[in-house]
Amino acid sequence: MSTTTTPKPVLLGMTPEELKTVVLELGMPAFSAKQLAQWIYQKGEGDIQRMSNISVAARKKLAEHYDVGFSAPLAEQHSADGTSKYLFGTLDGHTVETVFIPDDDRGTVCVSCQVGCRMACSFCMTGRQGFQGQLSVADILNQIYSLPERERLTNIVFMGQGEPLDNLDAVLAATRHLMADYGWAWSPRRITVSTAGLRKGLKRFLDESPCHLAISLHNPFPEERAAIMPAERSYSLTEMLELLHEYDWTGQRRLSFEYIVFGGQNDSNRYARELVRLLSGLECRVNLIRWHALPDEDRFREADPVRMAAFRDYLTHRNVRCTIRASRGQDIDAACGLLNTKEQNIQPSAPAL
Ligand code: SF4
Repeated sequence: MSTTTTPKPVLLGMTPEELKTVVLELGMPAFSAKQLAQWIYQKGEGDIQRMSNISVAARKKLAEHYDVGFSAPLAEQHSADGTSKYLFGTLDGHTVETVFIPDDDRGTVCVSCQVGCRMACSFCMTGRQGFQGQLSVADILNQIYSLPERERLTNIVFMGQGEPLDNLDAVLAATRHLMADYGWAWSPRRITVSTAGLRKGLKRFLDESPCHLAISLHNPFPEERAAIMPAERSYSLTEMLELLHEYDWTGQRRLSFEYIVFGGQNDSNRYARELVRLLSGLECRVNLIRWHALPDEDRFREADPVRMAAFRDYLTHRNVRCTIRASRGQDIDAACGLLNTKEQNIQPSAPAL
């Protein structure tokens, strides 16, 4: 006879108010909710029995009904350039990839927010994977709290698998936990949310979140952009820019545009000129990203570094701040556009201690 145990609900992802409901239901004092929030979100403690300022009896009762919800990576891969890629399990049995990128005094984690993605950008492995489900707040936070390099983190970018504005409730909730006093009290300046552009979510994000925004632009001409990013057809770049102009970008919150440079396709003066025209009057920066070849994909070519530098200089000389983003983790498929969990090709890591 097989014995299957039903997984317990997890505390990770709950707000202090929700934790208060939990502790009161279990007959614990209301102040235990604050203690719990600090153990989980400040100290990253995954073992209820080690929450030493909660009574032994209360810990026992809590552990009978709940798990914290942290789970170590299922597999990992390390690049020659120091970038690491991790495979995390989700609460409903899927997997997602998370990338840690060390850089001098910075440590950036690139987190996923969905299993796959609905946006179907033709240059992206996740887009090819299709959409398999949303990540919960716990699934998103687990990629950060259970990251082996957690102590080295200085920045979090929502640029992994999935479209953050398509799972906005969970993304906003996760960022609120990170910024809260009961958590790491992170500044929103250390968190960037990236989007291909979703009408429903963009205004809400702009109104509700103080975090930085990055827009995947990739081509300034509507028809050409729509050919590689179907999202353009339902919410055009022109409409997005109209909305972005309504907000103040001269303060702490930063606006950036991501531009993958496809060799011979979007790297000429014609594109640079149109970009300058589109972005004029908007306080922003443009990040040029090198295209990484995908398996069985011959529509795109890698960019010539000299042309990329000329493109950057064209923008810079016309007062559009522009940088070429260093490409990281390409040898382990961790670079931009290469994340994919449909068919796993990475080796299991050593068992978590
Ligand atoms: S580039 Fe981003 S939005 Fe487009 S398919 Fe990939 S993950 Fe989705």
